[in-house]
Order: sequence, then C-alpha cells, then structure tokens
Amino acid sequence: MSYQIGRKCINCDMCEMECPNHAISMGAEIYEIDPDKCTECKGFYDSPTCVSVCPIHCIKKIEDSDPDGTGSQKGKTAKKNQN
Ligand code: SF4
Ligand code: SF4
Repeated sequence: MSYQIGRKCINCDMCEMECPNHAISMGAEIYEIDPDKCTECKGFYDSPTCVSVCPIHCIKKIEDSDPDGTGSQKGKTAKKNQN
C-alpha cells in the first residue's frame, strides 16, 4: 500500500523533506509519491508523517475506489445525499 498526493497540492515542499524513505519528489506539476518506496512510514512513525505535515490534507491512502487519485468521490458523495 502507498499514499498518493492529490491534485490540490500547492507544492509547499513540507512533505518532501519529512519522508523517511525519500519517496516524495517533484513531478511534472505537483509532488508525487513513489509507491515502490512508500512504506506508510512503518518502522519510522506511528502514522504517515507526510499526511501529518500537509497543510491542506491532500495526501490520501490509495484506495481501490479511487486508484488514480482524481478525486472522483465527489459524485459518490452527492449520490449518497440524495436520500
Ligand atoms: S507515508 Fe511515509 S513513507 Fe509514504 S510517502 Fe508519506 S512520508 Fe513517505
Ligand atoms: S505537504 Fe501537501 S501541499 Fe505541500 S507539497 Fe506535500 S502534498 Fe503538496
């Protein structure tokens, strides 16, 4: 499993220096997490430190329902509220 940076990333640089596995680097437009390097901080911290330091909370665990991290969950939320 790995974490993924969402498109709302403001490139503040906070997470890059915090990652113990050097899994975070600047991509074409925003920062990206290398899933092969991300260990969810196991062995270093009790919780993912990149998630903790991100000021806009745009780092999420990769879930099957949103594999590309495009934030397609908006539609689901809207449907849920239709009841
Ligand atoms: S969860 Fe930990 S290991 Fe994974 S990218 Fe974030 S800081 Fe790095
Ligand atoms: S801490 Fe959050 S907003 Fe800042 S560079 Fe990392 S992912 Fe982007």
